[in-house]
Amino acid sequence: MARKRLLWRLFPSYLLVTAVSLAAITWFASRLWRDFDYEQTYSSLESLSHGLEGRFAEALARGQDVEALCKELGAKTRARITAILPSGKVVGDSQESPALMDNHAGRPEIQEAMAGRVGRAERFSPTLRRNMLYVAIPLTSDGALHGVLRAAVLQSSIDQALRANLAELALGGLIVALAAAAASWWIARRISRPMEEMRRGAERFAAGDLSLKLPVSDSQEIGALAEAMNQMAAQLDDRIRAIERQRNEQAAVLSSMVEGVLALDADQRVIWMNQALGRLIRVDPQSARGKSLPEVARNLDLQRLVERTLSTHEPVEGDLTLKEDGEVFVQAHAAPLRHASGQSAGALVVLNDVTRLRRLEQIRSDFVANVSHELRTPVTSIKGFVETLLDGAVYDPAEAGRFLRIVARQVDRLDSIIDDLLSLSWIEREGAPSEMALEEKPLEEAVREAIELCEAKAEAKSIRIEVKGEPGIPARINPPLFEQAVMNLLDNAIKHSETGSPVEIEVSRRECGEAVVAVRDQGCGIPKEHLPRLFERFYRVDKARSRKLGGTGLGLSIVKHIVQAHGGRVEVDSEVGRGSVFSIVLPGV
Ligand code: ADP
Repeated sequence: MARKRLLWRLFPSYLLVTAVSLAAITWFASRLWRDFDYEQTYSSLESLSHGLEGRFAEALARGQDVEALCKELGAKTRARITAILPSGKVVGDSQESPALMDNHAGRPEIQEAMAGRVGRAERFSPTLRRNMLYVAIPLTSDGALHGVLRAAVLQSSIDQALRANLAELALGGLIVALAAAAASWWIARRISRPMEEMRRGAERFAAGDLSLKLPVSDSQEIGALAEAMNQMAAQLDDRIRAIERQRNEQAAVLSSMVEGVLALDADQRVIWMNQALGRLIRVDPQSARGKSLPEVARNLDLQRLVERTLSTHEPVEGDLTLKEDGEVFVQAHAAPLRHASGQSAGALVVLNDVTRLRRLEQIRSDFVANVSHELRTPVTSIKGFVETLLDGAVYDPAEAGRFLRIVARQVDRLDSIIDDLLSLSWIEREGAPSEMALEEKPLEEAVREAIELCEAKAEAKSIRIEVKGEPGIPARINPPLFEQAVMNLLDNAIKHSETGSPVEIEVSRRECGEAVVAVRDQGCGIPKEHLPRLFERFYRVDKARSRKLGGTGLGLSIVKHIVQAHGGRVEVDSEVGRGSVFSIVLPGV
């Protein structure tokens, strides 16, 4: 349905009421005016008749020419004057010949006059064939009726004057109507304008602009409405702010959670997910909204978990493996989401990344397996040779000597493995930077100490260890541990270099202030794929070669732990066939 503006409802109604009232007033006024005019006319005709009464009574009594008198007086007074005998016979008329006129005894005004009263009539004149107003008075002398004198005027002449007056009245009415229309327009605008302002305000409220204040009109109802709307907007604003604050708090809590959180509806469509989950399954949380679970995470186990909780309405948990660029192990908890009414609304899934924990477990179990394996090799060998010796080889001095030397070598190996393991566990246990005694010392000093310890091995392979770089760069170190770390790196450099190949050790300072001790060799180098795992316990690039060289696979692991206990890190750069650079980077002082 087409809706009209309030202005177009009010204004025409006002106009109609004004027009009807004006028309009614004009009609009444014209009626009154007419009545008044007729009354005036009757009165003046009556006065006229009474004025002429004496002359006619005399003329009739003396038998004078009434006809001529009528004509003379009629011309003077501009009224029709008629004289009638008591018999009804017309004896004189100012506008018609009495001979042509019929008996007037039946005329209502004449009958009245003959009865001794003043007769009045408004009627059609058969004589003149026009509507006329008549006044008739009796002509009496000494109580005897001698005739009737009648004065009359044309109704049309009165009506003409009346019409002229009415035209003026109508003009006045029109002017009043126009003024009333203008006033109606102004009043309608005054009523509708605040309403329109309120409508516009309500539209802006609906659009979210709740800071707007509606002007309070001086009209009681509209003013109260504006105040109520302003109050409503303020309350809405407060509530929206409170809801937004709550939502932001919730979002902040959920976003800062380490666990991945995923809310799904009953059709398994994503309602919400936090950043942590986005990172776990490599999906943008914003763009995932509204998508189905299989679209977002292609993981059957996760889908089954959600389906189970949706069908059983019970919490479900399980361990899942996500494969997004590498294995990610998660512990998943899915629980049904419910509306306030208790009706099921979907599911809430929380994924806890346990990859690190799993890796640590793996490393631990690998470590035990590795230790056992590392220890078993020399122990098996020792056991074999001891049994051989017991079986009789002990009686062959040459054989016995060879076997015992092998046994001694294996025992040395066991000894060095146990030594390394003990240092590792000691560093791991005690090596927290806060607990370790550190002193500020020039690095070069510690480096020279380490070189001294390796000198014999280097010389055995004709390797020259060259010290380069700035002297006197200080760092906060635990000298015996730091020397051991440098020594391990030097030991490796010597072990993996050809005879006569040089080894370089450089002490320098980076722009950021970090102190660096770099051990550089021109040995066999390490293939790139091994570099990330090089510092793991028992990790060896070439197992057989390492064993032959007397390595335990723990050297670099010890270096890493010592350097970490100093608050630093170890970097490695290597190229197969060209050599390797191992750098200990310590925080500057
Ligand atoms: P290991 O006792 O076997 O030397 P490490 O932990 O010290 O054990 O070293 C791990 C592995 O890293 C070694 O087995 C070796 O293959 C490799 N490696 C270490 N340093 C070097 C180097 N300077 N040049 C080439 N390979 C090296």
